[in-house]
Amino acid sequence: MDIKQSQINIGTLGHIDHGKTSVVQSLTNIWTDRHSESIKRNMTIKLGYADAVIRKCEKCKGPSAYTIEKTCKKCGSAAEPVLRFSILDAPGHETLMATAISGANIINGILFIIAANEQCPMQQTREHLMIINLLGIKNAIIVQTKVDLVGKEKALEHYKQIKEFIKGSAIEDAPIVPAVPNRNINIDVILELISKMHLPDFNLDADPLMYIARSFDVNKPGSDIEKLRGGVIGGTIIRGKLKVGDTISILPGLSKQKGKHTIYSEILTLIVGINTGTDDIEEAHPGGLIGIATQMDPALTKADSLVGMVLGHKGKMPKVVEEINAAYIPLERTDIQVSGFSKDEPIALSIGTATVLSYVSSSKRNSVKIRFSHPVPVEKGLKMAVMRRVNHRLRLTGYAVIE
Ligand code: ZN
Repeated sequence: MDIKQSQINIGTLGHIDHGKTSVVQSLTNIWTDRHSESIKRNMTIKLGYADAVIRKCEKCKGPSAYTIEKTCKKCGSAAEPVLRFSILDAPGHETLMATAISGANIINGILFIIAANEQCPMQQTREHLMIINLLGIKNAIIVQTKVDLVGKEKALEHYKQIKEFIKGSAIEDAPIVPAVPNRNINIDVILELISKMHLPDFNLDADPLMYIARSFDVNKPGSDIEKLRGGVIGGTIIRGKLKVGDTISILPGLSKQKGKHTIYSEILTLIVGINTGTDDIEEAHPGGLIGIATQMDPALTKADSLVGMVLGHKGKMPKVVEEINAAYIPLERTDIQVSGFSKDEPIALSIGTATVLSYVSSSKRNSVKIRFSHPVPVEKGLKMAVMRRVNHRLRLTGYAVIE
């Protein structure tokens, strides 16, 4: 029996050029660095997940029994599935950090990539540890890359730097694995460690909620109207379960211009199919990216038009609001200096898969009143990453929790 849906979402963190993409490729056989510059510049967060099934050979012992191939490389026996995992792929340093903060259950575990040919910690490495501490994620594996470039003595010295760096943090006991992905060295060790990570508590009994990460029209131009298939949505469920036949609501929904105002209306439709990228399933739980086929007019879903919206059961959705009160918690960043908010300062909020242009109506110590530029479905306790304009660029400066 194969495992049809991912059971855990793993985020990759680490300084630029420390080898994230090659680690992901060697663990999943999928090359994730496919984001073009135009996508990186876009405000939309294009979440992607690379999935793989970890298998174990029952006849072999030790880490070499773990593989993503269907047969054991050592003895040729069939390797049985143990865990299906998804590695999150988010473009850019700021976006990755914002996504990690803003999406409960978007990331359940961390692969922290640290290259041995540079001092530890580099600036982004330091910032990523700050995010890990903030989220309190203990499910982590530190992958020490580029050890082949430095020799044994330097690698050992670098290992001590990592140990010192993580001391007292949420991941101080995380395993540190030296690896050379393109020569497949210790990839099996990492697979074994991933297979033993704590599975997340997905709160399966809650009212379901999914963040929409993409949407499309699967019909070819000029398709026969009778054969036309409904709009397809891709996203990640953060709690609860969705099944074929469910009536779903999508918020904030369709926008329409009415005089000076933009009016939003809820989209209601039916789930007619669910796919995990490899399998059709009847019921989906959180974990990885899933595709949902609906009865919606495909014109509504084309070209990612629903990205950033949320999906769930009709009548059991978060409230759609335009103004909120929140507690603001600044992040300690060494590279940027910011002062207090100015009145009506424009900020960008990362909320699930949405990036929402907003304004600070007022702020008093760490309490802020925020006005969204359009209605957004949110709930109490939701964490939003806050990006402010610093030297003409949007930079992550902290996060806000809705009161
Ligand atoms: Zn074997």
